[in-house]
Amino acid sequence: MNLAQNELIKSGVVSLVGPPNVGKSTLLNTLLGQKISIVSPKPQTTRNRILGILNDKSYQIVVLDTPGIHDATAPLNKEMVRLAVETMSEVDVIVFMVDASHSQPKREKSQFPRCLEEVKTPAILLINKIDLIGREKLLPLIEAYRIQHDFSAIVPVSALKNDGTDLLLSELLKLLPEGPRYYPEDIPTAETERFIVQEIIREKVFLMTGQEVPYSTAVVIERFKEDVEKQLTTIDATIIVEKNSQKGIVIGKGGKKLKEIGSAARLDIEKLLGQKVLLKIWVKVQKNWTRNPGFLKELGF
Ligand code: GDP
Ligand code: MG
Repeated sequence: MNLAQNELIKSGVVSLVGPPNVGKSTLLNTLLGQKISIVSPKPQTTRNRILGILNDKSYQIVVLDTPGIHDATAPLNKEMVRLAVETMSEVDVIVFMVDASHSQPKREKSQFPRCLEEVKTPAILLINKIDLIGREKLLPLIEAYRIQHDFSAIVPVSALKNDGTDLLLSELLKLLPEGPRYYPEDIPTAETERFIVQEIIREKVFLMTGQEVPYSTAVVIERFKEDVEKQLTTIDATIIVEKNSQKGIVIGKGGKKLKEIGSAARLDIEKLLGQKVLLKIWVKVQKNWTRNPGFLKELGF
């Protein structure tokens, strides 16, 4: 499973920060060039959820949601600020998204730039929905934000009209480090949701088995079916481990562990998809699967 290739590209992690309705889903869909919403419409509790992965020959940008600091105006408590600062320190670039049609917060009321000052991570200010305001309003708006914080760039866009997103991309690429491709290059964009679901389940196995099961454990999504009318997605998945002993650990006494893994994964997936999820998980032993090229191919590696 040699995902990291020798070739160095621009690769890194971007944290997209913005209040609800600012246009995160819309921006992601525009950037991904398709109409699937992979942003949770609900408040999230987990830190650092992957929203999407932008893949190109010359770059790979992992876009994370950073919950907990979405509200740019409400006073943040100490713990929230600490978490926000810690989270923002771990990424390569912060994209702070605001709505052009809202009046911008006064500096003293705005907590977010204050959090920004405590981290060294470069931040881009993204002013979205510029289609809703007159051109004459844009420059004063940019100026008002410019004096609040030393942003690496201020990019006005309309996520909806796909205006300015190329500029965002080029500003991002300037700030991102060179590195390996962390995820397979050829995840078709339509498969992103599926891929992230796979990653969520894999992460739960790893976290909830006390890391007794290697991270190389594979997850195969056997079925991914959305019932639009019922707002329900049915997912069948198989966790593949290498040894019987690992299977035992994943399933646990009386199936208890697998139940825990399943419900934790289901909660996250429901947040991701924004709808109810029926998740069924099986566990299968495939001896030495990591060394079996044919099987790897079948898994899509
Ligand atoms: P999120 O909660 O941050 O993910 O926001 P959404 O992407 O769901 O967008 C919230 C609303 O704002 C939706 O009705 C979008 O159509 C709208 N919206 C997003 N971007 C733009 C934009 O650039 N211009 C306009 N006029 N509306 C936008
Ligand atoms: Mg949304």
